[in-house]
Amino acid sequence: MIKYYDKLILSLTEVDAHPSFLIHGLTGCKFHCYHCFNYDELIVKPHPDFYTVEDVIGYIQKQGDLFEYLLFSGGEFLLAPLDSLISDLGKIRKASPKPIIIYTTGIELEKMKKLSELKLVDGYHIDMKLPYHLLTDEDFDLIELTMGIKVKDLSLLNSLTKAIEFVVQHDAGYSRVRSVKYPFLGESAFEECREFIHELNEKYHKHVPYDANQFIYQECVKE
Ligand code: SF4
Repeated sequence: MIKYYDKLILSLTEVDAHPSFLIHGLTGCKFHCYHCFNYDELIVKPHPDFYTVEDVIGYIQKQGDLFEYLLFSGGEFLLAPLDSLISDLGKIRKASPKPIIIYTTGIELEKMKKLSELKLVDGYHIDMKLPYHLLTDEDFDLIELTMGIKVKDLSLLNSLTKAIEFVVQHDAGYSRVRSVKYPFLGESAFEECREFIHELNEKYHKHVPYDANQFIYQECVKE
């Protein structure tokens, strides 16, 4: 059973010009990104009180006139077991015609493929935290600083790159690729990411947007 954060958010800013209903799964995260502002609240803190999928569906049905998209975030929502994801997203599909978008790091590519194959997801907003395609063995410290993980080789980064390619290849008009402008990265990092997404769009005849979003310190968010 997937546990959901008991604060559901109606957002006017998550997707430009599209009011959206933001739902957080209490599903943990394998990364610990630089100053992640969700980490303490959604990943570390225990949540004895949580919503079930039936609670979430109740709110979706009550507030359905107020939003256009359903957004699922975490942590990493896709760390939930595949059976639970299929079950919950299937119930939500039956309860609401609104497009379902999942925020993800791309760490669960096989689950993404399965959910897309079952038509339970309309789009992914996938992170590109670094220009993964250009990283070398000399970038392990940068990867640790950015994503909070120690790697011994580039296999994970290669897999995240494949997930981004999957998202662009199968886009149906709802997906995006996004970076955060971490203060230790230069503009060229985002230009490289933008160029990579542009090339994928050309390759697959798609128009997936790329966003490099402003970095916000955790302290600023709490004020
Ligand atoms: S992947 Fe997202 S939720 Fe996980 S640590 Fe990074 S920013 Fe936070």
